[in-house]
Amino acid sequence: MLAAMICKVCMHATMALDLPTLMIVSVLLSLGIAVGFSLILLLLPRERVLQLWTSSLWLLALALAVVSAQIWLPVRWTVVVSNTCMALANALLIHGVAIHVGAKRQLRLLALGVGGYVLTISWFALVRPDFDVRLHVFSLASIACDGWIVFLLLRCPALDIRRSCRLAALAFAFHGALYLCQLTCLPVQADAAGSIRHGGMAVAGFYVILLLLILAKCFAMLLLIVERLMAGLRRMARLDGLTGLLNHHTVLGDGRLLLEQARRRRCPVTVLLCDLDHFKLINDTWGHQAGDRVLKHVAGLIEDVLAGGGHLASRYGGEEFLLVLLDCDVGQALAVAERLRRRIGGGPASWPGASIQVTTSIGVSLADTDSTFEQIIARADAALYCSKREGRNRASISGRGPA
Ligand code: GH3
Ligand code: MG
Ligand code: MG
Repeated sequence: MLAAMICKVCMHATMALDLPTLMIVSVLLSLGIAVGFSLILLLLPRERVLQLWTSSLWLLALALAVVSAQIWLPVRWTVVVSNTCMALANALLIHGVAIHVGAKRQLRLLALGVGGYVLTISWFALVRPDFDVRLHVFSLASIACDGWIVFLLLRCPALDIRRSCRLAALAFAFHGALYLCQLTCLPVQADAAGSIRHGGMAVAGFYVILLLLILAKCFAMLLLIVERLMAGLRRMARLDGLTGLLNHHTVLGDGRLLLEQARRRRCPVTVLLCDLDHFKLINDTWGHQAGDRVLKHVAGLIEDVLAGGGHLASRYGGEEFLLVLLDCDVGQALAVAERLRRRIGGGPASWPGASIQVTTSIGVSLADTDSTFEQIIARADAALYCSKREGRNRASISGRGPA
């Protein structure tokens, strides 16, 4: 009943719409969207994907404005100009999506596609004017673009932006499906002047749905950007800005969780606290930037040594690193600590005009069944100070002294 009523209202509204009105509406709508994206770009001027998509939307608005200007301008030339703008707009859109999902950029293929499309349309507009061929080429190109974008979005490897990628893929898939319908079952005929201004209700209905889908695509693009920015912020809030390891706050939260899960599964957890030796001296001798370089170098070695295994590696403080080793008893943890100590002491960090040698002292503490995560860290800290007292560049086990 309700569906029938909605259908009736829609049909009535569509019948009341003529194509020139729809075209003006679409120009105004696309201009509004382009202005909206430009305003967002003012807030996020370095967002490369947003730059590309905003340019794409301005080109789309220009293309639609040129199509609407067919009343005053020669149709053939408006066809060439509007289709060129449309092709460039689609190329920018695809390029932006490729950057967004981290896919390989295929600029040459895009340039080839734009060139081939514009040449074909120009041929059938200026040399051998044929409206039907142009319409088919346009629909096929639109389907290909949408298909390309859906393919890129669905193959996005990043888990933290996958939800918006899937939703956006849906909007683009519907858009492509609409063009497929147009290609296969919508009779669109041009008038004597080669225009579809008087295409009738079916064509008007097609344009109404097309406008709605363009809106859906734009919301989807915003959704993609918002989710990626949110994911970036979330990542930044979890990581240490200098080394890229987990930060102090995150390792405390993740460590507690890991400890709870490990206890349930009865698997051992060990905590390693590493403190670089005489680090202040490095800063004083080579400067703070060199000190930062050493911190990054050490973080790289830690990541290397802990690769795989679900362990946590963090920068706990200035030149202190807290590592949480999953499924490692004291013996295994001590082996890891020794490997790390030797790697750090054995490979100096490179710095212009010098290679900076650094060593580390380590405290090791095994998680027992009832201590809190903070208590286990405190024990690793006590073991670390034991290593410092005993002469540095060594590992000590909590309660046992230097290994
Ligand atoms: P010890 O062997 O006893 O640990 O001596 P240390 O010099 O390593 O320890 P101390 O606590 O005296 O000095 C730590 C230094 O680490 C002081 C501080 O300037 C430096 N530091 C802390 N954070 C950073 C950072 O982000 N970058 C740089 N370059 N230095 C940092
Ligand atoms: Mg320290
Ligand atoms: Mg130190």
